[in-house]
Amino acid sequence: MTDRLVIIGAGQAGFALSAKLRMLGDMRPITMIGAEPEIPYQRPPLSKKYLLGEMTFERLTFRPAEWFVENKVELKLSTWVDAIDPAAQTVTCRGGEEIAYGTLAFATGSTPRRLPAAIGGDLKGVFVVRDKADADCLAVEMKPGRTLLVVGGGYIGLEAAAVARNLGLDVTVIEMGERILQRVASRETADAMRAIHESHGVTIREKTGLVRLIGENGHVTGAELADGTTMAVDLVIAGIGASANDALATAAGLATSNGIVVDEYARSSDPNIYAMGDCAVLPWKGAQVRLESVQNAIDQAEAVACLLVGGTEPYRPKPWFWSDQYDVKLQIAGFNLGFDETLVRPGSREGSRSVWYFSHGELIAVDAINDAKAYVTGKRLLDTGKITPDLAILADPQADLKQLLQ
Ligand code: FAD
Repeated sequence: MTDRLVIIGAGQAGFALSAKLRMLGDMRPITMIGAEPEIPYQRPPLSKKYLLGEMTFERLTFRPAEWFVENKVELKLSTWVDAIDPAAQTVTCRGGEEIAYGTLAFATGSTPRRLPAAIGGDLKGVFVVRDKADADCLAVEMKPGRTLLVVGGGYIGLEAAAVARNLGLDVTVIEMGERILQRVASRETADAMRAIHESHGVTIREKTGLVRLIGENGHVTGAELADGTTMAVDLVIAGIGASANDALATAAGLATSNGIVVDEYARSSDPNIYAMGDCAVLPWKGAQVRLESVQNAIDQAEAVACLLVGGTEPYRPKPWFWSDQYDVKLQIAGFNLGFDETLVRPGSREGSRSVWYFSHGELIAVDAINDAKAYVTGKRLLDTGKITPDLAILADPQADLKQLLQ
């Protein structure tokens, strides 16, 4: 028997789990196995400042390489886990190495959906943005005057569109749904973000799907769209969502459903195996959800660390998220799943505003566009359970939001 903690995935959640355990003074052996060659690093800048060339890779890493040595966290990089055996409590890496565990943690993240090869998704010049290698390959292609087509109007696609405009590319975003950000935000937030992109010269075409990409000599040169038009393109970014990396867990017989199903203690259907971050499906107000965010990856992993040293607290997510596009900071507190009403409050700066989401009269989330005060207030209200704020104050742009916290 071993008390070794094996973490599959050396990203945000994997790192947070090991760091928190060491912070709590727990010195059990830890082996963290990651498919990528880099030491653990944060992803959000990959579609923002890193892609723009304003941030070096050193600033993306959570800790320098020495931290892992000093803290006795064994890192196995460029290593793919091929299988796990819950009965024998082992993981098998590609190449055959077998590692025994006492506790296993899945922190395997998610994989961006790619455009199918049958419609040209395998042509050169077609990108996704998930890891450093993706961003590095994309960055060298982002040359002024080139034409970029972004397929999918979600956060990552819109952030990449903003970077590309800043770098002088011609940018079109197509979204097959009714509108951009349809899955994640209200119409009001989408309208605001669309206006910001259009004011920067991005063409946004909603209700417009991709029929196929056209290629010449293996490189993308054009796109045929569902509205019957074609356009010439030099580059394509697919921002069409991501699926949880749960195949290993499924193959090992754990409960999965577009993610590894966990309870409020982040425990999978095997009590020795936890899952956290993008790969986990967790209970949320009676539903099963996947929260793809830095907040969830860190907080869920830290909750597991506390449990492993004898804690008893369940993980209760307090979601927050952000997206940077041009000089606009969109900050989101809460989770708007199931909202039935919104209230828009203009902010004090030009262009700033906030969208407040309600479900059955209770506040569940806030989107704040260049409006830090609204974000902080909304987050505080949600964290403290003051979810029936005075709507008269909220709707009055002259009223001080602080009153809601009293
Ligand atoms: P990851 O950080 O993705 O780490 C998973 C790791 O596991 C990967 O390195 C993967 O290679 C490895 N792995 C998977 N399977 C195996 C295997 N079988 N063997 C070995 N290794 C394996 N969130 C925000 O809150 N705000 C933002 O602004 C924001 N922007 C983002 C921008 C981009 C471009 C991306 C890609 C994500 C962004 N996110 C943002 C989301 C956030 O980065 C993720 O939610 C977070 O990284 C999830 O952490 P994780 O540890 O679950 O997964």
